[in-house]
Amino acid sequence: MILLDSVTKKYPGDDEPALDSVSLHIEPNEFVFLVGKSGAGKSTLMKMITKEEIPDSGKIIIGGIDLDYVKKRDIPGYRRRLGVVFQDFKLLPRRTVYENVAFALEIAGMSGKEIRKTVPKVLELVDLLDQAKKFPDQLSGGQQQRVSIARSVARQPKILIADEPTANLDKLTTEEIIGLLKKINDFGTTILVTTHNENIVNTLKKRVVTLKDGKIVNDQKNHGIYELNEAVASEHRVQTPGHALKNKKKVI
Ligand code: ADP
Repeated sequence: MILLDSVTKKYPGDDEPALDSVSLHIEPNEFVFLVGKSGAGKSTLMKMITKEEIPDSGKIIIGGIDLDYVKKRDIPGYRRRLGVVFQDFKLLPRRTVYENVAFALEIAGMSGKEIRKTVPKVLELVDLLDQAKKFPDQLSGGQQQRVSIARSVARQPKILIADEPTANLDKLTTEEIIGLLKKINDFGTTILVTTHNENIVNTLKKRVVTLKDGKIVNDQKNHGIYELNEAVASEHRVQTPGHALKNKKKVI
C-alpha cells in the first residue's frame, strides 16, 4: 500500500540527507507509528508520500501509483486520494463544521445529493453531528481535530497519514483522537502516524518504525514500543554527562 525503495533526500544547503536510502513497505490495513527525535526525517518521509517533496533517488509507490509518473498538475488530484491530517487541523475558519467537510467533497467532485448524504454520516463517525453548525473557533482542540479527521476520511481514502496529529492536544483528547484513528483503521484504512507520544505508542502495540538521522534503525512489526533510548545512549558515549543530560531532556 505504501512502498518506499531506497529513498534518499537531501535538502539544498544541508550537509546530511534528511532521508538516507530509506526502504519501507506498509501493507494494506496496517497501523504504523513513525517515531524518532526531532530532525530524524519523519516529516520529510511524510512529504515524500504526499509529493510535497521529491526524492533525489529511489522509488515511491503509494496505493499502486508510482509517484515518478504523477505530473505536477496531477498532484492535487493525487493528494485527494489520500487522507491527510495535520497537527494544526487546517480548517477553514469561516465555514461551519458541516461546510468544512462538505467543501472537501465538493472539491473532489461529489454531487450535492451525495454530499448531503455523506456529511452527516462522517460527522456521526467522529461524534460531532450535534456540532455541525458551529464554526472552528467555537470548538475545543480535540473537536477541531475530529472535524479535520472527518474531512479527510469523507472521501473514504485507502490511506490516511497524520503528522503529529495530537501534538497540540491534552492527554485525554489525545487518547480520544488515537481511538478514532484506530476505529478508522478497523474499517480497513491503512494508517501512518508520526508521534512523540510514548504513552500512546506503547498502549496501542502496533507496528513501530524508528527513524534516526534519516535512516530506519528499528522496525518492530508487532507489539512495537517507543524506544529511542538505544540510539540516544550510543550518541552520548562520546559526550560529557552534562551534555548527555541536556540532550536527554530534549528527546523526552
Ligand atoms: P522530523 O520531522 O523528524 O523532525 P524533518 O524531516 O523535519 O525531521 O527534518 C529532517 C532533516 O532535514 C533535518 O536535519 C532538517 O533540518 C532538514 N530539513 C527539513 N526540512 C528542510 C528544508 N525545507 N530545508 C532544509 N533542510 C530541511
